[in-house]
Amino acid sequence: MEEELAKRHDTRLHVLHLTTAREMELFDAGPLEGKRITAEACVHHLFFDDRDYALKGSFIKCNPAIKGREERDAIRQALVEDRIDVIGTDHAPHTLEEKLNTYFKAPAGLPLVQWALPMVLELHHDHLISLEQLVDKTAHAPARLFGIKERGYLREGYWADLALLDLNSHYRVEREAVLYKCGWSPLEGSRLRSRVVTTFVNGQVAYHEGRVNEAVRGRRLEFDR
Ligand SMILES: [Zn+2]
Repeated sequence: MEEELAKRHDTRLHVLHLTTAREMELFDAGPLEGKRITAEACVHHLFFDDRDYALKGSFIKCNPAIKGREERDAIRQALVEDRIDVIGTDHAPHTLEEKLNTYFKAPAGLPLVQWALPMVLELHHDHLISLEQLVDKTAHAPARLFGIKERGYLREGYWADLALLDLNSHYRVEREAVLYKCGWSPLEGSRLRSRVVTTFVNGQVAYHEGRVNEAVRGRRLEFDR
């Protein structure tokens, strides 16, 4: 196992896309600082489980695959215990045509950025994680882990990359709301309890109430490492 080798040689290692209870035992609980081995879980592995295949089929085919409920619950628990340090989206915008293939022929990967935050917020609505933990796993910890300069915190002198949320919004995701060029989402038909109202990118309003401001552009990230 990579974890064993990294431990033996004191190598810095970051492991992505964890999906099973057994893997969770390999990672230490506690704060990011001081860890030589860190871990990430993805929004779809925290949100979906094998009961969703009946309805969503190849729309939720990804690599590693979405597994049973016990595995999903173990990743959620590891997040609560700080064994999982950061949450990723693993956004992969395959076309609808590709995904309409049979399960074995369809490519692995899901478009996820648009509802990634509301998906993780479901864990907050279910009283599993606090808003503070959620902000840490999605903004603070990724910035510290990768040494991203002047981002990831609401701080004077930092770039304002912000999402304003409505935490009391009950709705079902419909295809008409999808903003990706690929035109579909694995969340279609799913019920969510929070919504992104406004998004700021580098201090400018890039999205508000369903509309994207095409004039707002991103900037290359800078790193402090
Ligand atoms: Zn990936």
